[in-house]
Amino acid sequence: MTEGLPKIEFDDLKAQYKQLKSEIDGRIAAVLEHGRFIGGPEVGEFERALATYAGVEHAVGVANGTDALHIALMAENIGEADAVFVPSFTFTATAEVILSCGATPVFCEVDARDFNIGCDDLERRIQETLKSGTLKPKAIIAVDLFGLPADYARLEKIADQYGLFLLADSAQSFGGGYGAGRVGSLAPATAASFFPAKPLGCYGDGGALLTDDGARAEIYRSIGAHGKGSAKYDIVRLGKNSRLDTIQAGILLAKLQVFDAELDVREKTATLYDERLHDIVETPFRHNDRQSAWAQYAILLDNRDAVAERLSIAGIPTAIYYPLPMHLQSAYTEFGDGQGSLPVSETLSRRILNLPMHPYLAAGDIDRICTVIRDAIDGG
Ligand SMILES: *Cc1c(COP(=O)(O)O)cnc(C)c1O
Repeated sequence: MTEGLPKIEFDDLKAQYKQLKSEIDGRIAAVLEHGRFIGGPEVGEFERALATYAGVEHAVGVANGTDALHIALMAENIGEADAVFVPSFTFTATAEVILSCGATPVFCEVDARDFNIGCDDLERRIQETLKSGTLKPKAIIAVDLFGLPADYARLEKIADQYGLFLLADSAQSFGGGYGAGRVGSLAPATAASFFPAKPLGCYGDGGALLTDDGARAEIYRSIGAHGKGSAKYDIVRLGKNSRLDTIQAGILLAKLQVFDAELDVREKTATLYDERLHDIVETPFRHNDRQSAWAQYAILLDNRDAVAERLSIAGIPTAIYYPLPMHLQSAYTEFGDGQGSLPVSETLSRRILNLPMHPYLAAGDIDRICTVIRDAIDGG
């Protein structure tokens, strides 16, 4: 029935480029003309636009979202014998940067409704870590999974109570919000990614750190520039080479112009999916006071693999984010308690299915996707 229909894109960067071609080409051409490929004027212009958009004082461009997380931890001097609390159900980068600093990840269970770090489990693990006395609790990395901000109201309280640094891994949620605040302003420091598939993506790698704290922003800039002090060859701390390049900043400036309009379409797309699927699968949980950036639209279902297969045959790509929680990854098993220790995360990895989500899906595409899912479930 669906044979012969065009393939639906999981994430349609070509359609976006078609729409923004003249603006994007103009931005790239301007950089080719002035030739300041590293640290050109577009970088500062983008950092200012980004900070204004998020409602924070400072944005510091870096090479990618992973570096943003790593630099934020380096700036707090997190290292050996320090514990950093993270949700197990996340992308590898969140856990990886903790090990890059020589610290120890403590994997937490996620909330069964919204898949973000579970605050009760987090508090229990902080207390256990304090009691055992081998590691010093230092930081929490909250992940805004699939674009939905974590529970920052409660996370801030927990961070204050135990004296921990709260870092937002907002790689997927830039553009989202919580109450009156936008992502970037919800935690003392926020890491963003501009990987092409993120809601605000460039044409390569890119990332940023956002904060209201001027001292932190200065340290982030220093670390990203080999730890430099006030003069170029004055090295005052351990750093790395992590810069947002000028062409990517130019592309991001072009895309920022249409970002709000794209977020509106993502929200409408999510609503259409909700309406057509809520009675047969578990659709994303919504909080009244939080806005998702809808990096992903994820459903939960028991016969996930069979439904994904039917969609694939019908020319509809899907993805599984994530097939294995961090505490079961072979690189990280020594930091967890194995199979069965985080049942919500483990069940999610077996039941989750990510559907096509981008601002260039037609209503007809969504109908087509939902019809295949309904047939696969009802028709067996
Ligand atoms: C994409 C992503 C990152 C890493 O971003 P990069 O720019 O690819 O390094 C980190 N955390 C999460 C949750 C992500 O989705």
